[in-house]
This record gives sequence, C-alpha cells and structure tokens, in this order.
Amino acid sequence: MDAAVHTGASPLTSVSELRSFVRQTVEKTPVTDIHTHLYPPDSPQLLFGIDELLSYHYLIAEALRVSDLPYETFWELPRRKQADFIWATLFVNRSPVSEACRGVLTTLAGLGLDVSRRDLEGYRTALADLSITEYVDRVLAVANVRYVVMTNDPFDPTERAYWLSAGRGARDPRFLAALRLDPLLLAWPRVVPQLVVAGYRVRTGETGLDAQTLGEIRRFLADWIERLEPVYLAVSLPPEFAYPDHSGKEEAIRTQLIEEAVLPSARQYGLPLALMIGVKRQVNPALRVAGDGVGKAAISAVEHLCASFPENKFMVTMLSRENQHELAVVARKFRNLLPFGCWWFLNNPSLVTEITRMRMELLGTSFVPQHSDARVLDQLIYKWAHARAIIAEVLSHQYELLLATGWQPTRSEVERDVEALLGGYFWEFTGRRPGADRQDAR
Ligand SMILES: [Zn+2]
Repeated sequence: MDAAVHTGASPLTSVSELRSFVRQTVEKTPVTDIHTHLYPPDSPQLLFGIDELLSYHYLIAEALRVSDLPYETFWELPRRKQADFIWATLFVNRSPVSEACRGVLTTLAGLGLDVSRRDLEGYRTALADLSITEYVDRVLAVANVRYVVMTNDPFDPTERAYWLSAGRGARDPRFLAALRLDPLLLAWPRVVPQLVVAGYRVRTGETGLDAQTLGEIRRFLADWIERLEPVYLAVSLPPEFAYPDHSGKEEAIRTQLIEEAVLPSARQYGLPLALMIGVKRQVNPALRVAGDGVGKAAISAVEHLCASFPENKFMVTMLSRENQHELAVVARKFRNLLPFGCWWFLNNPSLVTEITRMRMELLGTSFVPQHSDARVLDQLIYKWAHARAIIAEVLSHQYELLLATGWQPTRSEVERDVEALLGGYFWEFTGRRPGADRQDAR
C-alpha cells in the first residue's frame, strides 16, 4: 500500500483515495460503546453464545409474529429450545433478511464460523472450549471495541448483590458503569420500601417530598456513584415524558426528584444525565421482554431541561424517527446536550444512514452516531460492523462534497474526525477519560 509512505499531513486528493482511507480508518479505530446491556465478565448476568443470540428479544418478536405458537408455550421453553424455534422459523423456513437476523450471521462470520453450512449444532460447540475471559477478549477484538458502557440498576436484586459482594474480583477496566435510575424516577413510591430496607430514611410524600427524603435520595445516589464509578446517570422514559410536569401527583414528584435529587447529584459528581425517551412499555404484554413499542415524544422537555440547567450535561437519544430532526436542532442550541445513537427500532441501516447524515449536516462531528444496545456479548460484532460501514459511508460522502469545493482533508484530519465519532467526542463532552480522572470529580 502506498498509504504507508504518506504522512498524516498529506492531503487526500481523489475520491477513491479518500474513500478507502476513511473506510480503513473507521475499521481500525477502536470504539467506545456508550450504551449496552452487558455485564462485567465475572457477573452471572453476562449473556453470550449462539442460543442467547437467537433468543434476542428483537428475534423473538419477529419469530412469534409469523408463528401460531401460543406466546405462553414459547416462554415455557428452555432457552435452547427457544433458539431452535427461532432458527427454524426465521433462518430455515424463511430467509433471514431482517437486520436482526442478518446480525446473527455477521456475528457468526466474525467469530470465524461458516454461515453457509447453516449448522446450528456446530455453532453451539465451536466456541465451547473458550473460557469467558477468552470469549470476551475474542469478541472485543473482532468488534474492535475498547470500552463498553453497561446499564447498572441498583434496584435489580441480582445486580445489587453483585456490586455489594465482597468477593468480587478486580474490575475489568473495559467495562464501564452507567447508573440507571428508572425505578427511582418511574416507580416512586413503589421503591420506597427498598430504600428504607437499605437504610435510607425516605418517606413516600403525599404532597411532595420533604427535605430529609430528598437528602437521603442524594445520599443513596452518592453511595452508588462511589461504588460504581459510572460515566453517566441514565433513565429511559415514555413518550409522554414532560418537564416540568405538575399535571398529577406522580408527575410532580418526578419533577421534584429530577430537580432536587438527580440533577444536583449529577452536578456534584460532574456526570451527564442520559435520557432515553420514547419507549412505550408493554404494548403487547404477552410478548414480555419483546413487548415494548415506540411513541413520539415532546422535544420541549429536552429544551426546558437544557435551558433550565446549564450547569448540567444531558445525553439524549429518542426512539421515534419523527423526533430525530428536532433533537439535532436542539443540540445546535445547547452545548450541554449530546445527541447519541440510533436506538432499538431505529437501528436499521436505512434509518441509521438517514439520521447520521442529517446529524452530520447539522452538527459536524459533535454527536455520537451509534451505540450497540447489545444485550448479548457477541452482538458487539454485528452492531459495530454494520454501524462502521454506515459511518464510513456518510463521512466519505461529506468529505467528497468538500473535495468538490477544492478543500482537501489530510490523513490526520480524517483520523481525528473518526476518533471523535467513535468515542472521542463522548469523552470530551463528559470531561473525563477512563482511568485518568477519577480523583478530579471528587
Ligand atoms: Zn438500551
């Protein structure tokens, strides 16, 4: 390759040279995956392997849709039988042309398996000899992921036990925490007994929360922030989410929790608050984990939060396609807002391409194009292979437009921009680098 003789300062002067350098740079730049549902390698909750890949909730919804198997019968099957059913339904009886199905094949191919054999049993045994550490190393290497940010819920009994366990080993520095606040913000007052048992003197608050309760919630947040060392706080919210909201008792308490507990704690520790807005929970409860839907949300909640709390940082992703343009516009208005990812039902190449291009046209490189949302370790492989192809394509297209004006991007400028898109801008926004800055925040 003659690329080796070029220095970083040498400009890319032709479309073909530019395209191949962008593609190459996007492939080789490690990513910080800012939102996943993975767990530390030594946690019993970390999912991996072909049976977990096949019984991903995206595929459950797709398979049950074209089957007459009663939902309850499916849920009673052991995991391996669920995987058999999904394989037969979506990969044998039909062509696996959906994005989630293609993802399984990209993943298997990335792991070195021959997808043309269609050999489910073979895929089950192929990697059985790997230890979990080897498996994690293999997947992170193939996906070229440097850091994964998890979703850590201190109200989840299994997760809570893991983090409180004295026997837990040293942390894997590649797995970073995010402190998830859904139960606190969406299930008050049902979480009150749990907080009381854990030693926090909180009261339900019939007409709003008293000062002691708010102080105790901040103490709870401080304890978990110090325990997890999260890179941000996070909550997923329904499309009806509004801020401020005094329309009912529950809404007024949520507004108070945000203003007087969550945002002050976030400021104290210098942590962004991530809002994932637009999930309509349990549209079809019989589908259980696969039963959630989407709704368009009011962008005014994001505008009000960014305007009212300039000292807080907000990371926002919205689930509805209809919210994407206005979210990018709000991000132009507020430097304390970071739009991120093409979430869940948006994670399809046609939509990721459209959204990423629109964001780049409005925001340059000051956004996070994608997160994997991976629930199964192996999914990092396909989510990032597919996302990288689109990011490279969109970026190449924008550079091509620059080239047409006579502007010539240099190699080091391309590397700088790709690094920003694959994690650099996220770290700049949060004001920290993993491992380097823990002391600063205290
Ligand atoms: Zn998620």
